[in-house]
Amino acid sequence: MRNRQATQLLSELSHPGRRAAEFPKSDVPDWPLEDLIPTEFQATSTPKLPELAEPDVIRHFVNLSTLNMSVDTHFYPLGSCTMKYNPKRHERLSRLPGIVDIHPHQTAGNIQGMLELLYEMQQMLAEISGLPAVSLQPAAGAHGELTALFVAAAYFRDRGEHRTKVIFPASAHGTNPASAAMAGFECIELKGTVSTPGEDPSKSGFVDLEELRRHVDDKTAVFMVTNPNTLGLFEKEIAVAAKIVHDAGGLVYIDGANMNAIMGITRPGDFGGDMMHYNVHKTFTGPHGAGGPGSGPICVREFLADYLPGPIVSLRETESQEKRYDLVIPPKTIGRVRSFFGNVGILVRGYCYLRTLGAAGVRSAAEMAILNANYLKEILADVLPSAHGKHCLHEFVASAEKLAKERGITAMDIAKRLLDFGFHPPTVYFPLVVPHAMMFEPTETESKATLDAFSDAIHKIVAEDADFLHTAPHTAPVSRPEEVKATRSPVLTWPVGT
Ligand SMILES: *Cc1c(COP(=O)(O)O)cnc(C)c1O
Repeated sequence: MRNRQATQLLSELSHPGRRAAEFPKSDVPDWPLEDLIPTEFQATSTPKLPELAEPDVIRHFVNLSTLNMSVDTHFYPLGSCTMKYNPKRHERLSRLPGIVDIHPHQTAGNIQGMLELLYEMQQMLAEISGLPAVSLQPAAGAHGELTALFVAAAYFRDRGEHRTKVIFPASAHGTNPASAAMAGFECIELKGTVSTPGEDPSKSGFVDLEELRRHVDDKTAVFMVTNPNTLGLFEKEIAVAAKIVHDAGGLVYIDGANMNAIMGITRPGDFGGDMMHYNVHKTFTGPHGAGGPGSGPICVREFLADYLPGPIVSLRETESQEKRYDLVIPPKTIGRVRSFFGNVGILVRGYCYLRTLGAAGVRSAAEMAILNANYLKEILADVLPSAHGKHCLHEFVASAEKLAKERGITAMDIAKRLLDFGFHPPTVYFPLVVPHAMMFEPTETESKATLDAFSDAIHKIVAEDADFLHTAPHTAPVSRPEEVKATRSPVLTWPVGT
């Protein structure tokens, strides 16, 4: 069987006497062990370490690495995560000695090249968002949310306003209420719009403005909203929603995880957002996943700029008309949220992406992502219909409800069986507002041939026997772990300050 060696533990592969290297005898005179480690802390027996030759170790780890699915090995339509291809050129550029050998304690005058890059990144992010002030510090999207909520809290504190509530729609990513709760706010969840059977389905799945009006008041600090939302739909009434919040003195936060659908087409700053985060590891091709470093810069309106975490790179002209980049700490800063300048390695990859594509290319990437998602939505619709609207943006949420009711085939069954066909599954059971949700995000970097092959696999799978599907995957090295049902209470009401 392929990769059998990788599924065994190193201790199982161990063979007495095998060695990877022979060390020369030490020429340092023996030191009595007791002088170094008191006897009560010394082990009484030699630890049992695996005994292996170098090729055993190398094969073990290389084979293990091939058991993982990744964007480099498989189609990976994991909705909401934007698992687009990470160009290898960006990897090479981000490893140039001039970049990796810089020490963060070097003075600003000493790292002008890097500061120029970070400054230009700030400028491009500001331009794409329509929000002028940027902090590159946060290490991921969720971290950006938390940082922006701290900024909002500092702003209201400064104004002497006691605002305690953060409002978000039911389709929100779990990090939104989590960030709000961590920042000490009370979380209010809004029901989305629902269309009754027979009504135009394209009206469902949006922020319900009446619901929003009911909840917004002078205690509202922030309305957090993802646009396009997690159903892959553009919130058409976003400007009206923003006005409702602004009229009550609150701020609007745009969760920018779905910027891949709108970059270069429309801007959060233009449709009412006061603050937002980017996920550089999603939208701008930083590698994503496995807990690796991410990057979640935030952009805010001018009146919030003073509260941002620093350092922020600023540009001035010297007396001899030379460009000079300085590191600035905003006057009312909430303080650092990350060491030094954030995860610079990921920012460099994002920078390479934006510079490579240029302004027109960024827009075209979004358009291709939308085209791919709509194509996949259409060719899957006969088996996995999507309840929300005729068209989607860069992703869509289909439902396996009919298959579950009629044949007992669940979204989880399809997801697990896809692994046997060599495809990473879509996101399942999120967003929670769709029963048996399967959320597909093909991204712009996939060909029509890949999307067709994926659709063929899904069609083959749903024609299979339900019992056979319940025990999938059948060829993966690890079988299905026990399932945990996703639940979330419809209204979250953490008290402030917990
Ligand atoms: C991924 C995602 C987040 C969180 O971003 P991380 O970078 O994973 O912390 C927040 N909101 C939405 C809609 C997301 O898809």
